[in-house]
Amino acid sequence: MKDTKPSILLIYTGGTIGMVKDYDSGALKAFDFSNLEKQIPELKQIDCQISSLSFDYPIDSSNITPDHWIALVELIEKNYHSYDGFVVLHGSDTMSYTASAISFMIDHLHKPIIFTGSQLPIGDLRTDAKENLITAIEIAALQEDGEAVVQEVGLYFEYKLYRANRTTKISAAHFNAFTSPNYPALIESGVSLEVNNAALYRADKTKATEFSKCIDSSVLILKLFPGLSEPILRSIVQTKGLKGIIVESFGSGNAPMFDWFKKLIDELVEQGVLIVNITQCFGGSVLPSHYETSLARINKQIINGKDLTTEAALAKMMLLLGNKTPYSTYKESFEKEIRGEMK
Ligand code: ASP
Repeated sequence: MKDTKPSILLIYTGGTIGMVKDYDSGALKAFDFSNLEKQIPELKQIDCQISSLSFDYPIDSSNITPDHWIALVELIEKNYHSYDGFVVLHGSDTMSYTASAISFMIDHLHKPIIFTGSQLPIGDLRTDAKENLITAIEIAALQEDGEAVVQEVGLYFEYKLYRANRTTKISAAHFNAFTSPNYPALIESGVSLEVNNAALYRADKTKATEFSKCIDSSVLILKLFPGLSEPILRSIVQTKGLKGIIVESFGSGNAPMFDWFKKLIDELVEQGVLIVNITQCFGGSVLPSHYETSLARINKQIINGKDLTTEAALAKMMLLLGNKTPYSTYKESFEKEIRGEMK
């Protein structure tokens, strides 16, 4: 067993947690990360060694791109063997996208990578930033018998740690901004940290951690709605360079059965565009062919996204495309659970 304190690397990418008000414009803008540590002197009291670094240009997470995901993976890879755990501070708006992507980009992860952020800036009197940050660090430092308790990418917000690729942002107003509709919380923070051991993910310990930096974002999310028209869908079918579509279908995977709709879906498949079917419902799963209106009935090549969140489906599609998964095996690869992201 190690006798030294766990070492944690804090990576600040931007977001409200490190923002201040610009009194001229009234807008929130990112500030220098060194101020964050000044804002939370309590960090010194946590029983671990904390180092920190920041993106050169911290950003509002609405400006996140796959290039930032790659930069983040590179940072983690560079520091992977020097730290016991990582805490990533990120804007909440797209946190579930980034955290899902990072979970797919790192294979055989054996250390915690905990994403957190806040709804109110760190300097605000009623801020949620301090609790989120302090507990996220405590979770990243949590060890049992010299081993990290969490060995996956998590998202901590408002007293709960979730598996990152199961999360979605549900509120722009409440501190309770995230949830995990199809998977239980991994840890609940109360008087003590209640670990749900049965829910924790474990990668094959005999395999070395691998970092993938190939993302292909030639994809689209299409949310079905009553009134989706043939000319609009046709313009999507004609989009040059489109490689994949995440279709958010109705209920347990259903779609309109109009002739023009079925024809355009077939055309997309013939063009080699990958189509993943997920439900636009907040919780639950696609049940292929359950109804006459099931999207799966239109074409056998339609990929079953099961109970994936939109964020995880998108990130998984981009990663498998980036890794040049052959078209002939893409459906099979996508439908396989790789990081505990689906049933
Ligand atoms: N707009 C901010 C961001 O996502 C909101 C937040 O930090 O929660 O960067």
